[in-house]
Amino acid sequence: MVKNMVRIVIDYAKCVEDIDRICVEICPVSIFRDSKSEKPKIVSEENCIQCRTCEVNCPGQAIKILT
Ligand code: SF4
Repeated sequence: MVKNMVRIVIDYAKCVEDIDRICVEICPVSIFRDSKSEKPKIVSEENCIQCRTCEVNCPGQAIKILT
């Protein structure tokens, strides 16, 4: 079976990572990598299950899940 392709886009201009790194905390399959010296990064986009939890809960509305 072919896996659905998903594209995760972070608008870093909207990312309020100094306040909250909720995407890192909330993703059930650990798509985002945390770092204290930089903004959250997408590290395993292919494992995204398209739950949209990050998109809905991002305080800056910086994440879009494109399917
Ligand atoms: S849509 Fe769900 S699985 Fe995909 S990156 Fe966001 S929280 Fe993680």
